[in-house]
Amino acid sequence: MANPLITAHKLPPFHQIKAQHVIEAIQKITSESIEGINRLVESLDQPDETNFLRPLEHIQDRLSQSWSPVSHLANVADTPELREAYQQALGMISEYGTKMGQHQGLYQCYQKLDLTRLSQEQNKAVENALLSFKLSGIALDEKGRDEFARIQMELSQLGNRFQENVLDATQGWSKSMSSVDDLIGLPDTALSMLKQAAESKNQQGWLVTLDGPSYLAVMTYAENRELRKEVATAFVSRASDLGPNAGQWDNAPVIEKIMALRSQKAQLLGYENYAELSLAQKMAETPEQVLSFLNQLADRSVPQAKAEFSALTDYAKQELGLHTLEPWDIAWASEKLKEHMFSVSQEMIRPYLPADKSILGLFEVCKRLFNVGFQQNHQVKVYHPDVQYFDVLSDGKVIAGFYFDLYARIGKRGGAWMDDCRVRRLDAKGEIQIPVAYLNCNFSAPSADKPSLLTHNELTTLFHEFGHGLHHMLTQIDVADVSGINGVSWDAVELPSQFMENYCWQPEALDFISGHVETGEPIPKALLDKLITAKNFQSAMLSVRQLEFALFDFELHCQSAPQTIAQIRDILGSVRKRVTVVPLIPENRFENGFSHIFGGGYAAGYYSYKWAEVLSADAFSLFEENGVFDQKTGQAFFDNILSKGGSQDAMELFKAFRGREPKIDALLKHTGIQ
Ligand code: ZN
Repeated sequence: MANPLITAHKLPPFHQIKAQHVIEAIQKITSESIEGINRLVESLDQPDETNFLRPLEHIQDRLSQSWSPVSHLANVADTPELREAYQQALGMISEYGTKMGQHQGLYQCYQKLDLTRLSQEQNKAVENALLSFKLSGIALDEKGRDEFARIQMELSQLGNRFQENVLDATQGWSKSMSSVDDLIGLPDTALSMLKQAAESKNQQGWLVTLDGPSYLAVMTYAENRELRKEVATAFVSRASDLGPNAGQWDNAPVIEKIMALRSQKAQLLGYENYAELSLAQKMAETPEQVLSFLNQLADRSVPQAKAEFSALTDYAKQELGLHTLEPWDIAWASEKLKEHMFSVSQEMIRPYLPADKSILGLFEVCKRLFNVGFQQNHQVKVYHPDVQYFDVLSDGKVIAGFYFDLYARIGKRGGAWMDDCRVRRLDAKGEIQIPVAYLNCNFSAPSADKPSLLTHNELTTLFHEFGHGLHHMLTQIDVADVSGINGVSWDAVELPSQFMENYCWQPEALDFISGHVETGEPIPKALLDKLITAKNFQSAMLSVRQLEFALFDFELHCQSAPQTIAQIRDILGSVRKRVTVVPLIPENRFENGFSHIFGGGYAAGYYSYKWAEVLSADAFSLFEENGVFDQKTGQAFFDNILSKGGSQDAMELFKAFRGREPKIDALLKHTGIQ
């Protein structure tokens, strides 16, 4: 039997891929890729597009086509066998990446390219490649290069260990509830979700877990204060030395090692600290610039956040009989206050947002803005019955595709994210290979008698991830390294996603995005108005929370010396002193579960969320000026942002669209911060 991860396929043959295929395939393809590249660069006196860049891209794409379904399945269909194979293969991928990054022959070929004979896209790709060579330690002496390779390998494994600890700690705690009386306040959707969770483990009653939807439902709605306290404590102490599973999956030693290795890596490459290294490839230029940007936003937001929290405290005292507002009361009391002020809750919105209807609405928004269509393609094999595959159409032609994996299930990691499956490029025959994306959310799955109904937050998440998807899928660039989301600076990558979120707030859009599950009636005007007013409820509190994460991340990575866990916590403590306005649970070990910066790629880059919010709010304000479905503006956004991918500087593209540099005002206005 041929290994399905080795043979070429237009799309991954998910129905054939098994855990036992992984090691063989990744081993074979990484070693053949290395051989292929060695042969390619050996004989080249004058590398150019035809004899170097294109063949190199084919080799690289083959590996990414094999690896993409493996890393995707590890995220959405985790099994012990797959996890083990994935871990091992990850080591090979990382080793391959390091080898390529330190390939002298390859580096020399890039340096020898005659840039005047390359297109603008190729020039940008080459410029990026040369910088990333530098960051790969190519200029180091042999000892330095070995050291660098070891650090990279360890960092990759530690990042994965961090994530596994968080996943295990999340799944390692649950509470079985035998009486529904202990779950008073929870909406029906949440109760049936908890019942399903119990059934899936052959248990009676209801099972409260730390998975996103379960955790949020309890924190927001459970009248049972003790339960909220217990769940909150278990959640914020995940993977740490505190809380109910203290010490079992403690990430503190992992964090210390990661930070020490990052410092070493930065200094090896000639940077003062990891923050400087991180900025080398970003739109922002210096650590001072980022810190000043974050501090400015904090200065504008903290006073209003304090006022919001004090209003919540007063309300809790007067109306809810809570003399002290404990950390586990905040979400619950906030929901009550919000209902009281706006008499609108996320649960009231659900019946108006059946998932199927919302998805059609999302497609309609894209059609109006960018003139593209979507059609489910049943021929394509998927990896789970919940998953759907869609073709993206433009002028009747298929220009892209995506896997829609929307519902929570066992073995799928939490949260929502977009990943690429295929990138747009020219294949070996010179034909366009269309881009394909994985779009993943964790909504409550439909049951036999009930469709999936979304909260407004979930709708926003859907639009957000789809924005990333559009950036990847609507690209018109044929050079893989700068096509779609490839080569886009980290701090600009959230522009299309956060831009798309705006449509979840537009009456004109909600008219067709929403439709009551029984009557088909869109969200009534009065409810919509309340929803819009409620949007900025506690917006400053939310903003300072993001600023807390961003400042902690950035200040931590500005340190030049290795930090002990105690010092790391001091940094977080000092940031909190400046920007945090809510009380914390003593067992709070937020940092131990901060996957973005320790398990993912956001190290010294969490600020990019806020940075991109400024860009996206400012971009959308042009639509507010011209009409939210104005075709010309939509076309301009497509032409200057979505279609261009990473082929030009993010700032240049933004200015081409907006006619000027970004301004902070639109964001402050949109979030109601004075
Ligand atoms: Zn995003």
